[in-house]
Amino acid sequence: MTETKIRVLDPDTVNQIAAGEVVERPASVAKELLENAVDAGATSILVEVSSDLREITKIRVTDDGEGMTPEEAALAFHPHATSKIRDIVDLSSIRTLGFRGEALASIAAVAEVTLITRPRGAGALAGIRMVVRGGEVVERSEVGAPEGTTVIVERLFYNTPARRKFLKSRNTELAHIYGVVENLALAHGEVAFRVVHNEKERMATQRSGGLLNAVAGLYGADLARALVPVEGRLPFLRIGGYVSRPSENRGNPSQVAVSINGRSVASRQIAAAVREGYGTLLPRDRYPVAFLDLSIETDLVDVNVHPTKREVRLSREREILTAVAAAVAEALAGHDLAREAPAEPVQQQIIPEGPVQARAPAVGETEAFYTPGHQELVLSDRQLRRTEVGGAENLLPAMEPVGQVAATYIVAEGTDGTLYLVDQHAAHERVLYDQVVERRDAEPRSQELITPVVLSFPPRESAALRDAMPLLADEGFVVEEFGRDTFAVRAVPVALGTLEDLEVVRETIADLLADASRTAPDRREAVTCIVACRGAVKAGALLTHEQQKRLLAQLARTKTPWTCPHGRPTVVAFDKRKLDGMFRRG
Ligand code: ADP
Ligand code: MG
Repeated sequence: MTETKIRVLDPDTVNQIAAGEVVERPASVAKELLENAVDAGATSILVEVSSDLREITKIRVTDDGEGMTPEEAALAFHPHATSKIRDIVDLSSIRTLGFRGEALASIAAVAEVTLITRPRGAGALAGIRMVVRGGEVVERSEVGAPEGTTVIVERLFYNTPARRKFLKSRNTELAHIYGVVENLALAHGEVAFRVVHNEKERMATQRSGGLLNAVAGLYGADLARALVPVEGRLPFLRIGGYVSRPSENRGNPSQVAVSINGRSVASRQIAAAVREGYGTLLPRDRYPVAFLDLSIETDLVDVNVHPTKREVRLSREREILTAVAAAVAEALAGHDLAREAPAEPVQQQIIPEGPVQARAPAVGETEAFYTPGHQELVLSDRQLRRTEVGGAENLLPAMEPVGQVAATYIVAEGTDGTLYLVDQHAAHERVLYDQVVERRDAEPRSQELITPVVLSFPPRESAALRDAMPLLADEGFVVEEFGRDTFAVRAVPVALGTLEDLEVVRETIADLLADASRTAPDRREAVTCIVACRGAVKAGALLTHEQQKRLLAQLARTKTPWTCPHGRPTVVAFDKRKLDGMFRRG
């Protein structure tokens, strides 16, 4: 028999190839598991992510949905096994997020998956536990389990090293996971979502049945309050949701979130229609913040056009887009846009502790060495001058600097004899951060460099930089591409001053690229923190008495002088009694 060059691939290989389409990164795993939980009718979903410093090591999704019988559990890992459609006709009336029956099979082909599930209403011991590794069932036992389903995914891509190599930094992957949860939470206000990373809660929404509450939970009550409700109707379409007052706007459409029939979708056309609804209320290059929820008759929506189903194809698209633009225009027209009252009472607010994003410690924060010199003093002087402000309340007790320790901590004395140690970098970071936040929307936010800084990047980073250019522009960086993979930085945010220093500009941009989390508010927050960190006086910089005084005065006028934007302390205090105690006086 002669050997043919065409071979039918074995099922394992087929599954691994298929997995490549669906399971691109840890966030894809989270997305599929979460969608399954929503499809199972869960009312509350917990996502637990574990990571070491380098990568995500485990994703666990627990739901209180309908669960699976042992027979169903066995089938769930078969490729193309689904309970959601029977044939192609069903696809035209699809109401579930999944339908291809390939997610669990795909994930199990490239990871180790543990499934624990018990159907609703079955006895407590009717649970089943299965471990599937590289597509093979390696363990199966009956267990007691709560109603619902837990899926644990570990060792992702252990057998596909190429894929593993292309994973971005842990923080980037985490940010993608948070983005997935955000989208799903916005599309499903009826479900409570909670995300925990390494035992710390990062996000939580309440099961309140409202988009506005989901917005408040994810982005804070302030944003929710600044929104205007949108409504619209056609015989085959219902439009609901919220859009921002024109004053709340962004430099790109990434904060226009749209869901269609409970599925979060990316649609440039719909984002453009929303924008169109603002007419001249927004400058040409600005986009609103919007959360739209469209219910469209299912036979007009083709959900089967994209591997991860992020895109859909709409019949009667023109009519739908026109209706969206009209509904937005009407919402804005019917509203007193200057009024600051809430669009609707926000019942609860769950603000994630800190920015919804893990961040690596900033450069300079742990440095303790220094080389004092004139240049350094001049730099510190420039950095401190930029943050000079008048007025405002004094929130720190009065203190007078005594000197510096290790060119890192300012030692100060309070009028009552309290000893203060102030972390000079953290303190100035706080000052800068508050100012950037305050001036975010006031012009001008950027300052031209006297000579543009020219940077070249390897192709992959260039691509990322090109992607990030609207965001950078939004934050005050004027960057132009003027040759292959070469960029000119013409202006930087005011907070960075007119730094001609090539390294600082390069590093700031590199930080931004590394931290390209998905949603606009997150990214904005990240940019603010990076800019604050980069613009702040360094640990290890020698400061004159005058400079120390200025820094303390500036810190005192911030809104939260006691911590830096990363939540670390800026000031520690030892009161006189404590000092006395230490020396066993009285
Ligand atoms: P699909 O979601 O496209 O049907 P999946 O591979 O994601 O395909 O899941 C296969 C099947 O396993 C689903 O159709 C469903 O019946 C079952 N299943 C998966 N996850 C869950 C869950 N969390 N709760 C209940 N059933 C589930
Ligand atoms: Mg699915």
